[in-house]
Amino acid sequence: MEKKLNWKELSVGDILEGGSSLKFKTGNWRIKRPVHIPEKCINCFICWISCPDDAIIVDPEKGKWSNFNYDYCKGCGICAYECPKKAIEMKEEVEK
Ligand code: SF4
Ligand code: SF4
Repeated sequence: MEKKLNWKELSVGDILEGGSSLKFKTGNWRIKRPVHIPEKCINCFICWISCPDDAIIVDPEKGKWSNFNYDYCKGCGICAYECPKKAIEMKEEVEK
């Protein structure tokens, strides 16, 4: 079995295998979560373009906003800030 290294054992500038970020569900860092308000949304996708974690899913068939990928959304709030229609609100994560 492959030995897992801790961060102190990694060399400076170490390179990890490609695609490894998919293995880490970074959404568990979140203290606030974005909540979509469909009746306000005009499907402009500014939130989708703005999300640094590619955590907004659009439905290409319908051309509509679809969902958040909460496995990777870190709760930065950029999508809510950039939305021109205030169709995303940031809520406390404890309100799951
Ligand atoms: S809160 Fe941040 S990480 Fe989460 S969907 Fe919005 S922009 Fe992306
Ligand atoms: S930025 Fe706002 S209005 Fe535009 S798609 Fe996202 S949630 Fe909808």
